[in-house]
Amino acid sequence: MNITRHTDPEGVCTLTFDRAGSSANVFDRATLDELDAHLAALEALPDLRGVILASAKDKIFIAGADLHEFVSEQGTSAPSAGSATTDTTPAPLQSLSAIVDLGHRVFTRLQTLPAPSVAAIHGACLGGGCELALACDWRIASTGKPTKIGLPETQLGILPAWGGSVRLPALIGLPAALAMILPGRQLVGVQARKLGLVDELAHPEYLLAAARKLLARGKRPPPRFRAAHLPLAKQLVSAKARREVLAKTRGHYPAPLKAIEVCTAALGLPLNDALALEKTAFLELVRTPECRNLLRIFFLQERAKKLPAPAGSTARPVHRVAVIGAGVMGAGIAQWTSARGLPVILKDVAPDALARGLHTAASLFREAAKRHLFTAAEATAGLDRITPSHTDIPLASIDLVIEAALEKLDAKQAIFRDLETRVRPDTVLATNTSALSIDLIAQPLAHPERVIGIHFFNPVHRMQLVELVRGPRTSPDTVATALQFAKALGKLPIIVNDAPGFLVNRILMPYLVEAVRLFREGHSPAAIDQVMLDFGMPMGPLRLADEVGIDIALHVARDLAARLPHLAPLCATLPRMITQKWLGKKSGTGFYLHRPDARAAKPNPNIDLLRPEPVTPDVNREALRDRLVLIMINEAARCLAEDVVASPEDVDFGMILGTGWAPFRGGPLRYADSLGAAVVVARLDALARDVAPHFAPCDHLREMARTGQTFYSEGRAGSPGPPQSTDHARPTGRPGDPTLPQS
Ligand code: NAD
Repeated sequence: MNITRHTDPEGVCTLTFDRAGSSANVFDRATLDELDAHLAALEALPDLRGVILASAKDKIFIAGADLHEFVSEQGTSAPSAGSATTDTTPAPLQSLSAIVDLGHRVFTRLQTLPAPSVAAIHGACLGGGCELALACDWRIASTGKPTKIGLPETQLGILPAWGGSVRLPALIGLPAALAMILPGRQLVGVQARKLGLVDELAHPEYLLAAARKLLARGKRPPPRFRAAHLPLAKQLVSAKARREVLAKTRGHYPAPLKAIEVCTAALGLPLNDALALEKTAFLELVRTPECRNLLRIFFLQERAKKLPAPAGSTARPVHRVAVIGAGVMGAGIAQWTSARGLPVILKDVAPDALARGLHTAASLFREAAKRHLFTAAEATAGLDRITPSHTDIPLASIDLVIEAALEKLDAKQAIFRDLETRVRPDTVLATNTSALSIDLIAQPLAHPERVIGIHFFNPVHRMQLVELVRGPRTSPDTVATALQFAKALGKLPIIVNDAPGFLVNRILMPYLVEAVRLFREGHSPAAIDQVMLDFGMPMGPLRLADEVGIDIALHVARDLAARLPHLAPLCATLPRMITQKWLGKKSGTGFYLHRPDARAAKPNPNIDLLRPEPVTPDVNREALRDRLVLIMINEAARCLAEDVVASPEDVDFGMILGTGWAPFRGGPLRYADSLGAAVVVARLDALARDVAPHFAPCDHLREMARTGQTFYSEGRAGSPGPPQSTDHARPTGRPGDPTLPQS
């Protein structure tokens, strides 16, 4: 049973959602049927005065539809150290059609109850949960932190299809509804109230009492006249939204475009006709390869949240943390950790750096408060949990140390040797190194088994991925403790072996180096970057090199080239940029000029001085794309063959979350499957012959091509085909694309 019904003597019925055995409420067929049965019973009550819909969960009203209903099998298998599969083959059309119909019928039944209804929203009210609330006469949201309301379906490649695309525009107006639906934006209570999405706000304690009062308003009157819904105005709004979506997505994401069509066309239609439009669009979208790949990312996120600790290990609790180094990363890690409620000692040898680190943490808390993620008091308390220190203070109470100091092996070894003398024997010693060997860092220690890499990405507050890097001597308990800690921070971990560059930098660096080689051959940075933007990356590789920092990129590239002889030799461009002090964004100049007052980076007019002789090669976009994409696929296949990670899912998940790798293509290995190993190998062989030997396909790919294997069990089915050259598009990433990677 997922819903309880209680009708009081005054005729007010409360339906409380409380999914058995779960911390979340979701809508699956059974829950919709149960709600239907309750509504049927309520229709038969002659003295019913009103209905309140509420949740018994702490942090969730209703989190949305159970997405497993949309795929043919269970979408994701339990995570394991081996290769878990994540098959998102769509469910049969008939069953998809039936679940949409069921939602439409039940929510319309709620809307047309003779008595008024109110959704009392506390916690996540997303997707189907929001659509349920929209079918009520009134909505009241709690001011509690867990409350967030939204329709994130387009992020999964579909559109709201249980009435959300119809009822939201009617309630708050087409422009505001599109501004929510297209990026899948989630609102806190105050924002929802401003838009008219909820009618009232209440403290969580008084939510039900306040909901009850709302019932006195009776059934909701019909929506008011809106000039924006006149035919011509609607067309203007919709055309503008379409232009903006195309500018952001280059047409790679069909869902937001469909959502614009449906939201616009549904306005003014009889309810059933409008819902029919929504259903047709959903059935079309749910079967697209883009939807399959985006759903897979969702399942992989769920899998990362449940990643199991090594068999037989015990995770030790982490109550207090120390961060060594208050630079870009240390300050970010300290802020994020204290924001999750843990006290943090932040240590730096340089008092100036410490002051800057604290300033950074304070700004991050301020920004978060502005975005309603914390109250001002919570932000102050968060900052107060960080204890700065530039001297050696006792660390006996610390359960986990994260070192984020200089990227130099001897410096890190010295820090760890010192730490070992000052922490408890069971304290975990973690390093945020970008690429140094965990085992070498641990080598001088008496207890190397307690050392692990926890590789956060920059900026820490936006990047969800962390690589947990297990050295050959890292103990299972250390892995388990770090894993539990990463999950408690709300990060999404992958477990990686101690290999050069770990996973993300190992695949990303050869790509950045190849982009620099293309530049040296005479291609303009803008042309190189454009090719990859059109492929679906959120940022081109040379613009990314500027973000990472030319010095850091060169350092990691050199480290990898020294340890992986198959990689391309480095050319002189990056060292020459460093000589010029062109370090990228942080110095204001790199491949581009970065001015704080400018809206976008501009090409560096002097960049051609770095090339041996001015040449203007033909821009064969397909050839450029092949060089940049296939080099990553080749390296990704090597990572799998060398057991850097356990499964293709880990590779694709790491690249999408760590670098924004074209999510709709499903990651480099999923994309390789869509091409087929034989095609990948043939193109790499051609590049090895015509361009340079470092393109030679790895043995693993050759073997796959010979035997017709794919990385995923569902193989080529449902993957988006090879990219077409798109010369019409400009802009950046997909809607809501979180971040860009650095390091
Ligand atoms: P940074 O230069 O911004 O900061 C390093 C800080 O460490 C400085 O403030 C310095 O004073 C301090 N420090 C140096 N020696 C110290 C010591 N013995 N004890 C205490 N503090 C000391 O560097 P960063 O960018 O924050 O990088 C830190 C680490 O994180 C490096 O290992 C780097 O490779 C890694 N990393 C960096 C990024 C990135 O994008 N910047 C991303 C992931 C990982």
